[in-house]
Amino acid sequence: MSLLNKKVTVIGAGIGGLTAALALQARGADVTVLEQAGSISEVGAGLQISPNGFCVLRALGLGKAFQARAVQGQAVELRDYRKSTLVARLDLGLLPADQPYFFIHRADLIDALADAVRDAGVKVRLLQQAETIDPGPSPKVHLANGAVVNSDLVVGADGLHSKLRPVLNGKVAPFFTRQVAWRATIPNDLNHPAVARVHMAPKRHMVSYPLRGGELINLVMVQERMDWADEGWVHTDDPDNLRAAFSDFGGDAAKMLAQVTDVGLWGLFRHPVAPRWVGENVAILGDAAHPTLPFMAQGAVMAMEDAWVLADALDKAETTAEGLVAYQSRRHARASKVIDTASGNAWKYHLSFPPSRFGAHLGLKMLSTLAPKKLLQQFDWIYRHDVTRSDSDMS
Ligand SMILES: Cc1cc2nc3c(=O)[nH]c(=O)nc-3n(C[C@H](O)[C@H](O)[C@H](O)COP(=O)(O)OP(=O)(O)OC[C@H]3O[C@@H](n4cnc5c(N)ncnc54)[C@H](O)[C@@H]3O)c2cc1C
Repeated sequence: MSLLNKKVTVIGAGIGGLTAALALQARGADVTVLEQAGSISEVGAGLQISPNGFCVLRALGLGKAFQARAVQGQAVELRDYRKSTLVARLDLGLLPADQPYFFIHRADLIDALADAVRDAGVKVRLLQQAETIDPGPSPKVHLANGAVVNSDLVVGADGLHSKLRPVLNGKVAPFFTRQVAWRATIPNDLNHPAVARVHMAPKRHMVSYPLRGGELINLVMVQERMDWADEGWVHTDDPDNLRAAFSDFGGDAAKMLAQVTDVGLWGLFRHPVAPRWVGENVAILGDAAHPTLPFMAQGAVMAMEDAWVLADALDKAETTAEGLVAYQSRRHARASKVIDTASGNAWKYHLSFPPSRFGAHLGLKMLSTLAPKKLLQQFDWIYRHDVTRSDSDMS
């Protein structure tokens, strides 16, 4: 099916929406993005973009613009919280040269995508909040301002609180995972190398990596706790609460915590992967279809993979309906597997019982010393999957 001149409305100018807009416009569609906010912007936090996300950006012609803004990661290090002692090292230098792993400020990725979207002639309309969506032969988006937008296809890239997801799946309440996360950026006064460090402690962990040519350090701290915290990005907390929760952290971890002046706090919730991603001339992608816990750093990357596959599947199919079915079938199993892996990951960092902790750390240390390739190869199915290659499909 040719996408030539098909009118497509994308709801949401986040990472998934902008990538979809670019991929669809590149195949001839006439794309309009509706964004509820007054500007295309992002919270001040970092993202890890693994090779499977980078290959989508590269295929869309954004490789150089992205690399200019990103820091190339050399390793992921697992460290003990007490003195920041190294437990295991995942050497990202073992990845093939054309499959680099990056750290980038979210705002810098959004800027690169927004520039490319505008250059490609996509129309971006701000302050347009979608309220309801009617799938059908000519799907309609009803806006909060009373206007109705008609098009040939509607893509819901509207994140965690998607308006299109419940239209396709009904409402499902998420559940609190009894974990909260703080996030902050601090100046890189410690000369933090281009590695992602995971400091592991009983019931907590802290991730740090550099951003913006090494000027900043991105911090994410996760704690298991019973009391509820809101889901979302915009809640702030007193940095002293964070320091109290991580007061037994030593070494560089303690130094980084001491530097935090502004910190966001939010609850981590689990949402089931939506069973239906498509309906009559409508589709959802990214967090709208499958929000994930952050423990594999794959949420934005999965949104980019979805965006590419949606455009590719529509382009290759005879009809829109066939293309939408192909899109869901090419994506559902992979996204679900990544999300299950992320959900199962936190406990590995948070072991409390000293013998289990000691045994697990010893095992990791031996594996990273004796078989460093093996440690990395367990993630091949995620990182070395390239959706832009025609032979990439997996179940
Ligand atoms: C702590 C943490 C760390 C993370 N780290 C990583 C990482 O390292 N790597 C990674 O790949 N992922 C990471 N993620 C996940 C990643 O941030 C998300 O999965 C990703 O942002 C989802 O992109 P999206 O475009 O689907 O949705 P969003 O980024 O949520 O974008 C949705 C857009 O839609 C707009 N919108 C919403 N509703 C409407 C409406 N009704 N009408 C119009 N517009 C609307 C919003 O304003 C927004 O612009 C992390 C997440 C967390 C919480």
